[in-house]
Amino acid sequence: MSTTLIRGATILAMGGEHGSTPFAGDLLVEGNRIAAIGPGLGDRPGARQIDGRGRLVMPGLVNAHTHSGETFFRGRYERLPLELWLLYAYPLLMGPLLPPRLLYLRTLLLAMESLKGGVTLLCDDFFDPPRHDLDRLGTVFRAYEDAGIRANVSSAVMNIHPLDAIAYGRETMPVALQARLDFGAPISSAAYIDYCRSAFAAFQDKAGRLRFMIAPSAPQRCTPYLMQACDELARQWRVPFHTHILETKTQAVTGRLFHGKSLIRYLHDLGLLHSGVTIAHSVWVSDEDIALMGAAGCSVAHNAVSNLKLGAGIAPLRRLLDAGVTVGLGTDGVCSNDTARIFDVMRTAALVQSATGPDHERWVTAAEILKAATLGGARTAHLGEITGSLEVGKRADLIMLRLDSLAFTPLNDIVRQLVYAENGASIERVMVEGEIVVDGGRLTRINEAAVLAEIREAMPALMAEHAEIETRNAIFHPHFEAIHRRATAEEVGMDRYAGTRG
Ligand SMILES: [Zn+2]
Repeated sequence: MSTTLIRGATILAMGGEHGSTPFAGDLLVEGNRIAAIGPGLGDRPGARQIDGRGRLVMPGLVNAHTHSGETFFRGRYERLPLELWLLYAYPLLMGPLLPPRLLYLRTLLLAMESLKGGVTLLCDDFFDPPRHDLDRLGTVFRAYEDAGIRANVSSAVMNIHPLDAIAYGRETMPVALQARLDFGAPISSAAYIDYCRSAFAAFQDKAGRLRFMIAPSAPQRCTPYLMQACDELARQWRVPFHTHILETKTQAVTGRLFHGKSLIRYLHDLGLLHSGVTIAHSVWVSDEDIALMGAAGCSVAHNAVSNLKLGAGIAPLRRLLDAGVTVGLGTDGVCSNDTARIFDVMRTAALVQSATGPDHERWVTAAEILKAATLGGARTAHLGEITGSLEVGKRADLIMLRLDSLAFTPLNDIVRQLVYAENGASIERVMVEGEIVVDGGRLTRINEAAVLAEIREAMPALMAEHAEIETRNAIFHPHFEAIHRRATAEEVGMDRYAGTRG
């Protein structure tokens, strides 16, 4: 068993007795676990020594919600709300399947950017329409395995037609265009559950880094029967039931129109709101929703940057935290965030809350944001027992940052500077499962230059193809635009846009 001793570092444990107070100490890693942590651990003969002086050692960051399928669309769009952006990022009229090699590289690119940005665990809600294919899912898992990152991966599912999953869909879309969206029957619940069983058997690796999670896309996109069948599996396997709820105002209007209640209340009434549930977004949640979520003990993956990019609004973070909801931070896909950097999400999430109201004592603190980016995120991934903080017995998932960098000079407050000043540039080493996967700022398992060159080489043809797909789908644009304008003009009794009522 390999042993590594980090000596004389500043340690920010984010759990255990030290909490989020930095202290001077050593950290011993034996195999894939943290064996000891504290001041002056003494000599460990045979251990590899790492000089921690002038370095901060802290838990790896957690990206609680992303979609690897968007990784090639960095910087491709702007000024599009979700309902219009989806039309291009997830086209209704699809092109050919991405070839396996590009599928691998696309996932690898996300893993590479994540690790170099200090993310040791990501939750990839992998969506590969229209298929659920074990080979393709296996390719995604293989990319994460090769990069050495910890990952929860789903095979996201929906079985309601897109026009039946949005307010005013059928009545707005012209009949002639609706005919072009007739794709036949979606996957049956039974077939999807069978598929999940095979995926779980093939890829779940509790001893290692990779896990499968269950992800029905959203309550308005899945039948109650499918949601309940997913929930049963998730409970049985103790894996996250990971879904999207109330990202946009249009979705808030959709829930009320379809069910006469909010989508959170709808989920609750189906018996599907509980501590195993992780909700991406929850921007347009009412006070009643927040109370239900708190009582259920569910988790939220808060995607501050994506919510701003798509104009979704600002999630009521303070009220969610007050209610006892477990909060993690996510980038969402790279197409709605443009990076995989959780440091950016931390800074944005912290800053934007102060635009929600003048009561400054209710603005979030850097320590709360840092917790969400580490232990909170790990809990949303149901991995809080093994990662997310530096504690004896937990897996050794950690990052080392230089404290002589610009972001920490002068050093006033490590936690605040991590949130408000650091951008990942101070990261020197990243360890996952006791293995150093970034050293001196370089990935140890991947030939970065070769991978990036191969991706650049393949992009012109792929993006030309995607541009044609965008053109084909643009025929639906005015109609989704009309839906967006109509729904966002509705009164829903709350506002989540900055500069208006908080
Ligand atoms: Zn998402």
